[in-house]
Amino acid sequence: MKKPWLPALLLPLVLTLLPTQSLQAAHGDPSAAALQVLVDGNERFASGHLSHPKNLIARRHEIAPKQHPIAFVLSCSDSRVPPELVFDQGLGDLFVSRVAGHVLGDEVMGSMEYAVEHLDVPLIVVLGHERCGAVQAAVDALEKGTQPSGHIRSLVKRITPAVKTAQQSHPSDLVEASVRANVQRVVDEIKASHPQYAKRIHERKFRIVGARYDLETGKVELLDCE
Ligand SMILES: [Zn+2]
Repeated sequence: MKKPWLPALLLPLVLTLLPTQSLQAAHGDPSAAALQVLVDGNERFASGHLSHPKNLIARRHEIAPKQHPIAFVLSCSDSRVPPELVFDQGLGDLFVSRVAGHVLGDEVMGSMEYAVEHLDVPLIVVLGHERCGAVQAAVDALEKGTQPSGHIRSLVKRITPAVKTAQQSHPSDLVEASVRANVQRVVDEIKASHPQYAKRIHERKFRIVGARYDLETGKVELLDCE
């Protein structure tokens, strides 16, 4: 069963339900402020009122010597989910890694650590999406025994544990449940990948957020990945 999309009016309510993620407490918390920028940008994108901020020549010159991105986004390579567009951000705003199924390999973890430790990025977003082909391939491999060829197999291997987790609740839509379980799994893997993350989260100046993009509405739903 397809999950209902989240009406814009309800999104702030969901955000306030997330433990330790109250955007009302954004004062002095750069991670909450950064998340609010992305939430606002996605509302503009979903409503078709893109502002394309900071895409001017002046901005290009401003950030040429040094970058100060506000978030690291790990998203799927899917052509329909480009983070800069989905969050209506401009040059120098997002530090992005994209790989099918947003699987977490060593190179992605290294990119992430660079962004957090050297660029002081306060926010990591794991962005899954509706009808992810990589997740579908992992579901097919598990349920039908159809093993993909070549290196696609390594993607499927990394996503399969999330599918097995999703299977346990016997969902009516296994792909959708697996998309969400895959986001949760990658968030957990990131948290466990480096002791710096837990320390920064404890200091309330850093957060790792899971999210799911709806292909029809263009809305990003924040998932409770605490
Ligand atoms: Zn995908």
